[in-house]
Amino acid sequence: MDITKETAALLGRLGVNTDSIVGGDLPVHSPVTGEKIAALKSMSSAEANQAIEQAHEAFKAWRLVPAPKRGELVRLLGEELRAAKADLGRLVSIEVGKIPSEGLGEVQEMIDICDFAVGLSRQLYGLTIATERPGHRMMETWHPLGVVGVISAFNFPVAVWSWNAALALVCGDSVVWKPSEKTPLTALACEAIFARAVKRFGADAPAGLLKVLIGDRAIGEALVDNPKVPLVSATGSTRMGREVGPRLARRFARAVLELGGNNAGIVCPSADLDMALRAIAFGAMGTAGQRCTTLRRLFVHESVYDAIVPRLKKAYESVSVGSPLETSALVGPLIDKPAYDNMQKALQAAGANGGKVTGGARVENGHDAAYYVRPALVEMPGQVGPVLEETFAPILYVMKYSDFDEVLAQHNAVGAGLSSSIFTRDIQESERFLSADGSDCGIANVNIGTSGAEIGGAFGGEKETGGGRESGSDAWKAYMRRATNTVNYSNALPLAQGVSFDID
Ligand code: NAD
Repeated sequence: MDITKETAALLGRLGVNTDSIVGGDLPVHSPVTGEKIAALKSMSSAEANQAIEQAHEAFKAWRLVPAPKRGELVRLLGEELRAAKADLGRLVSIEVGKIPSEGLGEVQEMIDICDFAVGLSRQLYGLTIATERPGHRMMETWHPLGVVGVISAFNFPVAVWSWNAALALVCGDSVVWKPSEKTPLTALACEAIFARAVKRFGADAPAGLLKVLIGDRAIGEALVDNPKVPLVSATGSTRMGREVGPRLARRFARAVLELGGNNAGIVCPSADLDMALRAIAFGAMGTAGQRCTTLRRLFVHESVYDAIVPRLKKAYESVSVGSPLETSALVGPLIDKPAYDNMQKALQAAGANGGKVTGGARVENGHDAAYYVRPALVEMPGQVGPVLEETFAPILYVMKYSDFDEVLAQHNAVGAGLSSSIFTRDIQESERFLSADGSDCGIANVNIGTSGAEIGGAFGGEKETGGGRESGSDAWKAYMRRATNTVNYSNALPLAQGVSFDID
């Protein structure tokens, strides 16, 4: 299989000018084989600022198009994505190493958010509010916000963009997207798919409604610092969030920060162990542990520890690891060598802290520059060392517990609390887990694993950044500005008591 040729063919079919993917300074590698499959030209900061300017001009026109009509563009985008699903899903597998069902699943999430946003385009409701003044009416109106900046991570190269873009577009905003420098090809494909939707929509969609910025974090910084971008939605590591958050705050811009996840699950004495086992295996090993919602810490009650952990270990030893393009393996590659090195470092640190490691070794597949690993399960004596941090690799730390209050405290005792789950048939435990003093994460689940969120709910929400804010529910409000309007239909102007002006 010639992966470079296949990539060019896919991009050509998806509508990308394939001349633009060769000869540049930004190499793109496929983690499947480690080969270089393209070399794009990075943009300069000046070019990025020019693109933002164009998006700003587009916003000024787009905000005047009625919202349901804006929804029509997103409906067409959904149609184009349906037509391109097989090719785009395959490209995700090549660029990120996801197995086919996950590559296609990511495109399905894009389609789902388009459907959601089309309905939303008729539901951007404000309230009518009781006023204390006679002969007045008070209401709130939601207006388009401006250029929405989107910075995305490598591991969801296309879905994260769509969760933001579909909402932004129906809300009347334009979008400037800085994809991960590790996955710019899928971004170019989305740009081409979007262009087809725009063409079908017609002249009411201004040029510049979507701009894609190719480059590394320097280009991301240009986007973050540009005063014409009132909202930046940035997805990536907690390190990135700590840099981006203060820069946005300095110019009073809004931030939607979707960052790392050191996610945990609790298996209680009454749990359905077969169900828990399947959910744990999928949540911890799926996408080779490279999901923000990957299960990374598991607390198992001492009464069921021996009934579940040996079976889990067996699953770890037997899961198939291999090329997502040529085999039916369930676990594909890590994104690159630094990811592999970080995993090995964490496993060594776990061992030094008393952990017993099963798995974690490199799996050879005939390509020196590709990094396949057997997922690692580490039995830990307690929550110490690397257990306290997110390592973006398939490592599951397993710990025993005896007391429910204590395990809840342990569960909440780390940063990057994004997703969480409990396996129990005891209603007191499950309700407590979902209550105000239960799980402190933006996602808290019962009898279902930590990964695989649906677009209907607000996604994300690390505890440090304050709850889910992307995709479903009322997340759209972040992409608009609220005006409170008061209309006086009386012939009197009530002023504060005792205040009058001589105006004759
Ligand atoms: P990363 O932080 O290295 O990069 C993410 C993006 O941020 C890239 O586009 C990068 O160029 C950009 N960037 C980095 N530093 C920047 C800066 N100072 N200013 C502006 N832009 C900057 O993350 P990654 O390795 O691509 O992705 C993995 C991480 O993302 C994991 O921690 C994972 O948990 C997290 N993630 C979170 C979610 C979520 O919704 N919470 C979803 C996917 C991934």
